[in-house]
Amino acid sequence: MQLYNKLSAKEREALLEEAGEDRLTISFYQYAKIGNPELFRNHLFVAWDQLDVLGRIYVAHEGINAQLSVPAKKFNDFKEFLDGIYFLKDIRLNIAIEQDLKSFLKLKVKVRSKILADGLNDKSFDVTKKGEHVNAEKFNELISDPNTILVDMRNHYESEIGHFQGAITPDVDTFRDSLDIIEEDLQEHKEDKNLVMYCTGGIRCEKASAYYKHKGFKNVFQLEGGIIEYTRQVKEKELENKFIGKNFVFDHRRAERISDDVIAQCHQCGKSCDVHVNCANEACHLLFIQCKECAAKMDNCCSDNCKEINALPYEEQKALRKGKKNSNKIFKKGRSEVLKFKQ
Ligand SMILES: [Zn+2]
Ligand SMILES: [Zn+2]
Repeated sequence: MQLYNKLSAKEREALLEEAGEDRLTISFYQYAKIGNPELFRNHLFVAWDQLDVLGRIYVAHEGINAQLSVPAKKFNDFKEFLDGIYFLKDIRLNIAIEQDLKSFLKLKVKVRSKILADGLNDKSFDVTKKGEHVNAEKFNELISDPNTILVDMRNHYESEIGHFQGAITPDVDTFRDSLDIIEEDLQEHKEDKNLVMYCTGGIRCEKASAYYKHKGFKNVFQLEGGIIEYTRQVKEKELENKFIGKNFVFDHRRAERISDDVIAQCHQCGKSCDVHVNCANEACHLLFIQCKECAAKMDNCCSDNCKEINALPYEEQKALRKGKKNSNKIFKKGRSEVLKFKQ
């Protein structure tokens, strides 16, 4: 029985191109008590590998958080498999609007201590006492109420390229940071205002809403299924779209365009732009916004220093990197003093 990937990302990319079949990019999460995450993980891997599922899935004692892609023609089998697991039966799947063959190139199912790195001590509050889930229609209604405070629960590099009109977008690097900042800002309004929150797919709000209720907020609401599901409902029901710009997503696409507005700027020249890239220097890999002209001028790098390193022969680059720690390169928080136009 094969429990791990055998193909490299490159080999997979070639295979996907050759097959040329439609794939659906899907995300979902569920908090549930999983007794043996390791066993559950293996069960998922074996079944999904057979269905040609690719993606990044976290399994923990507290539940599952999945971002994946599945061949369109195998979607029904995939759904049937989920329905066979009692806590995933009829689960809402967030299906991406823009489909990309290569949103994921590997199937990675990992056991973690938590499905979301939220930095919270869950024992200190009741995570099941969540805020009220609202659909797109109710959400639109709520956020046009002057008595509502709308909060973006994502990080700075996400809200920078797109957010709801009128939302508070905390300038934070982590979810944990935003919790405290928001609480402090809204100290006076725990009882008299509606606290409405949203995130990419809803998972961050699950915890945050319970946390804020525990902290004394009386009227807590969360956008069900996050921006992804909101956009789907807006299209389906022809509602007014109140989201401007792009929705940052955690696969190779990096973002989905929701409205035509470009609300960010190139971090190097200041020109209107909302395309995230990673610095081409492998030792850096900084996530930042770069326009086409700057990409050409800088050889896809974030700084002159990185440009110099990137131009060296690969072996020399490797020698330079030796002994230096480099954690979580791909989503390294997009901050650096070299980026003149990062606000
Ligand atoms: Zn530029
Ligand atoms: Zn760099």
